[in-house]
Amino acid sequence: MSQPEHFDALVIGSGEGGKYLAWHLAKSGRRTAVVERKLIGGSCPNTNCLPSKNEIWSAKVADLVRRAEQFGMMTSPSNLDMTKVLAVRRAEQFGMMTSPSNLDMTKVLARKRAMIDGLIALHLELYTASGAELIMGAARFTAPKSVEVSLNDGGTRTLSGDRVFLNIGTHATIPGIPGLSDASPLTNVEALELDRLPSHLIVLGGGYVGLELAQAYRRFGAAVTVIESGPQLAAREDPDVAAAILPSRWGRCRPHPSQTRTCGFPASGSSRERFARGSVG
Ligand SMILES: Cc1cc2nc3c(=O)[nH]c(=O)nc-3n(C[C@H](O)[C@H](O)[C@H](O)COP(=O)(O)OP(=O)(O)OC[C@H]3O[C@@H](n4cnc5c(N)ncnc54)[C@H](O)[C@@H]3O)c2cc1C
Repeated sequence: MSQPEHFDALVIGSGEGGKYLAWHLAKSGRRTAVVERKLIGGSCPNTNCLPSKNEIWSAKVADLVRRAEQFGMMTSPSNLDMTKVLAVRRAEQFGMMTSPSNLDMTKVLARKRAMIDGLIALHLELYTASGAELIMGAARFTAPKSVEVSLNDGGTRTLSGDRVFLNIGTHATIPGIPGLSDASPLTNVEALELDRLPSHLIVLGGGYVGLELAQAYRRFGAAVTVIESGPQLAAREDPDVAAAILPSRWGRCRPHPSQTRTCGFPASGSSRERFARGSVG
């Protein structure tokens, strides 16, 4: 095996902790390398926090356009009613063509992707400015404090570090619910790459991520059902906070002879989101 290239600091994974640590160490004069197999900057700017907030913002615009009249807009800009509050402008940038039926999810997606491209460019600038070397490839340990990197462009590099930091993050998993993986469910990654509006989205899990996705897709106009097996939405919150999130239309699930559970909802009224409590499977 070839002699490893030696660094003062070697960071595996360019997520939230790793990249800031690497930039700081490199700026302070340490020879630093970061190995990243796919997502420059990690999941937050590429698939998680910022892409979800980007689409949530588009969904908010969709909702505002739909309710534009409440804000003094009669869908055509010439009908502006300045006696009410000016609310919706630039709707097209967010994928809305003034009429809610004209939602263009390809534009929503394009806007999100353009933001990610900008963030990646920014990360690359920060790597260059700090002096930390970004190596694109998958690292695996071959000896203590030594890794072999299968480079994305082909070939390998062997690296060692006085100090090696792991920032290898997490990824979405498909729970072991019978039949679920055969149904090819979406994780956050695929959901945020949709270029069409599903007629009905079922969200498994009523934590923050599930809830914000549910709200966004409801605002885009899809029917949405959230299924939460615990006693409350947003499980880590105090019960009174969770109760405030809970809409009045919290359906109950009942056992079904086929061992699946079905969820019932109050028939009256048109709920904006539907919530069901119960386990699936
Ligand atoms: C939809 C969604 C929305 C979210 N919104 C928010 C939010 O608004 N605010 C918030 O605070 N949090 C939010 N989160 C959580 C947040 O995204 C994560 O907590 C955070 O991104 C995790 O960062 P990390 O650095 O630990 O890991 P990651 O970002 O996963 O970084 C790890 C990196 O290591 C790389 N890697 C792994 N193994 C190797 C290897 N062997 N070789 C080379 N590279 C490797 C991976 O490719 C990855 O890029 C959200 C999560 C989701 C799913």
